[in-house]
Amino acid sequence: MHKDSAITATVGHLIDGQIVPDTERTQPVFNPATGQSTLNVALASKTTVEAAIASAEKAFPAWRNTPPLKRARVMAKLKVLLEQNADQIAALITAEHGKVLADAHGELQRGIENVEYASYAPELLKGEHSRNVGPGIDSWSEFQALGVTAGITPFNFPAMVPLWMWPMAVACGNTFVLKPSERDPSSTLFIAQLALEAGLPPGVLNVVNGDKTAVDTLLQDPRVKAVSFVGSTPIAEYIYAEGCKHGKRVQALGGAKNHAILMPDADVDNAVSALMGAAYGSCGERCMAIPLLVAVGDAVGDAVIAGLKTEIAKMKVGPGTDNSNDMGPLVTKPHFEKVKAYVDSGVAEGATLVVDGRSVKVAGHEEGYFLGACLFDHVQPGMKIYQEEIFGPVLGVVRVQTLQQAMQLIDDHEYGNGTCIFTRDGEAARYFTDHIQVGMVGVNVPLPVPVAYHSFGGWKRSLFGDLHAYGPDAVRFYTKRKTITQRWPSAGVREGAVFSFPSSR
Ligand code: NAD
Repeated sequence: MHKDSAITATVGHLIDGQIVPDTERTQPVFNPATGQSTLNVALASKTTVEAAIASAEKAFPAWRNTPPLKRARVMAKLKVLLEQNADQIAALITAEHGKVLADAHGELQRGIENVEYASYAPELLKGEHSRNVGPGIDSWSEFQALGVTAGITPFNFPAMVPLWMWPMAVACGNTFVLKPSERDPSSTLFIAQLALEAGLPPGVLNVVNGDKTAVDTLLQDPRVKAVSFVGSTPIAEYIYAEGCKHGKRVQALGGAKNHAILMPDADVDNAVSALMGAAYGSCGERCMAIPLLVAVGDAVGDAVIAGLKTEIAKMKVGPGTDNSNDMGPLVTKPHFEKVKAYVDSGVAEGATLVVDGRSVKVAGHEEGYFLGACLFDHVQPGMKIYQEEIFGPVLGVVRVQTLQQAMQLIDDHEYGNGTCIFTRDGEAARYFTDHIQVGMVGVNVPLPVPVAYHSFGGWKRSLFGDLHAYGPDAVRFYTKRKTITQRWPSAGVREGAVFSFPSSR
């Protein structure tokens, strides 16, 4: 237990519709803008997680049999409550994650769109029907709930990523146990309480805060039928292997190192504006951020470096509570130190540090985890800052001479989450979107995050599993197909035994 006397409260769990306080094992949650902690988060024991799973299992039969329209109405009501409570949710996100309030509102809005999509569940669950597949025989496929499902989510979108998962899972008739990030748990728990207010019966959604102990319990318990994960690649790989080993359906979305390509014909000014937001928005702590720009040709490379340098000089770094700031702090002190060490390593490995944000200080917030925007030129494959996900406000420019060389770099990288091409050449853009080995592709759109009615997922080591997150793939992930073939003989035996395999020959 954390002994800091400044701690005044502990974020507990939500089990069976009740907030469950838990101070047995805890860790502090920090405000990254001040470096101070006033809050602990509970780290659930195996027994606590098992209680949440038991609650979800108990709630399943009635919820599964609740008409999809009634389940969907809960989502429709939740959407309204989320909109009504948006300011409070955004404030909770900013207090623990650090991102600027406007950005917190943006993440919540994208989460609300997933709730809205889940409210179409009756339409999405209609299934497939074929009449007369044989004489007097009808066949149909229906999509049945799995049972208890679970989600494990990262720190960087504490509202949105959980909303990618559980609204669709429960709208499909499942019950759910959510294990949010222990670094910024409050907005996630608050939203789960709103779901109760919207009419979700107790036990349908449970939240357990915690660490590896909680995660491993979810992965190993046979009552949990499916696990959705979003986080870093090493943990995603572990979750996928461990979950599959225990017979579960698993989708595990991992890390990223998204490259953008700047073609010689691109509108450089527009590309610079787009890159500023994509590289430095949310302090670079987005899996769809652009930390690498591949400039095709030196003329465009020089122009983009000059443009970025000018724009970075205008950036405002400070607490996320002030919407006039462009960038808040990094999430934790260890993460701040890690990102700074990456910048040191880029210098040591010979990249040119054009803008150095390491000495940024924010008056009145000297203990905050603030790092200014950093810009490297002449980054080379093989350097740590090229290969590894930094997850901070660090943009590296790589220079090549052809589109083929730029695409080869992207295809050779272990990650394949997002990418973008800046160009005015439709043929080049078409070739790029057709061939690039990446799951989400933008053309002059730097953050091609799919809307809620498409699905989200990377390729290569950015996703383990078959189905992407949210959208139509989520309906498939959270349901099992059952195919029923039926006939009703009217009177007596119409045909004798048939020993050959039935066919419509
Ligand atoms: P993380 O992998 O450290 O943590 C994610 C979750 O896993 C948390 O709930 C955490 O408690 C749990 N966890 C951590 N270590 C564990 C362990 N050893 N065993 C079991 N569970 C463990 O990720 P993070 O730092 O919270 O989030 C940032 C990462 O998430 C980045 O790599 C980012 O790219 C990735 N991300 C990916 C997507 C995507 O859609 N692909 C979206 C958002 C974030």
